Formats: sequence, C-alpha cells, structure tokens
Amino acid sequence: MQKDDFSKSYVVEGKLALPYTYFAGRVGSTFLTTLRDQKKIMGVQCNQCEKIFVPPRQTCERCLSDIRDNWVPIENSGEVVNFTVVREQDKHLPRKTPYILGLIKLDGADTPMVHIIDGIDPEKITEGVRVRAVYTNESDPSILYIDHFEPISS
Ligand SMILES: [Zn+2]
Repeated sequence: MQKDDFSKSYVVEGKLALPYTYFAGRVGSTFLTTLRDQKKIMGVQCNQCEKIFVPPRQTCERCLSDIRDNWVPIENSGEVVNFTVVREQDKHLPRKTPYILGLIKLDGADTPMVHIIDGIDPEKITEGVRVRAVYTNESDPSILYIDHFEPISS
C-alpha cells in the first residue's frame, strides 16, 4: 500500500448555485413548523447524555443515540456566546451589511445556534449580551420565521 503524501495541497475548482433548496427532514420540519405555528423554539434531548441540542438533530453527537422524538421546549431568550460582523455585501444575504451574525446559546439549550442580531450597533456588540427572538410571518419555511434576535434591555 502506498503511503499518502499529505505535503501536497490539492485545489478543487467548483461552482455553487444560489439560492438552493433542500429537504429539511422529519426533525427539521417539526422544528420549523413549531417556529411558524407556535412561535416556539424546540430542541431535542439525549436521555443518556442529558444534552439538549438546538437546532434539533436526529442523533446525539456524543453517544449516537436516536433522539429524534425527545422534544423539549426552549426559551426564546439566551446569551450571545460569539459573533461576527458581516461587512461584504452580496445579493443572496438576508440583510444589508453591516449586520451581526451571532452564535446564541438559548436558555435551556446546551448547543448554540446561529442567527441575525439586530437592534444593537455592530461596533458595540459583545459576548454575553442577552437577546430574545423576534418572530415574523415569513411565508417560506426557513429559520427566518425568527426575523432576528434583539437585545433585552435591562
Ligand atoms: Zn448522547
């Protein structure tokens, strides 16, 4: 058997067609329809690890248990654990730049989800900011049933 040569770097040219569609699956579909119809965020819990995943998934990443039916309600609020400011404009982006894309750990969840954070100056966002979901009546099935997250003023 020939030993692989990892010192070489291969470049693969390709094209991505945007926008695109994909099948959300059973778990993803339940997550999206609950957002749309009940304005509620749901996660799934692994009964072995007790870890709660948001967005939900079929399989626990740790113990590989099937967790697709272990739905638990999650709070609409949480904490910004990381973020980036999108500055490069592109026609496929959901917002005019600059805008904040945050990694938000919702109260009750063990994993963070990515979403838009609005209502705060992109130059003033910090980790630890408390935010809550702002819903829309968006008609196409997507995570944009939540329009954005906004800071909770204390
Ligand atoms: Zn597990």
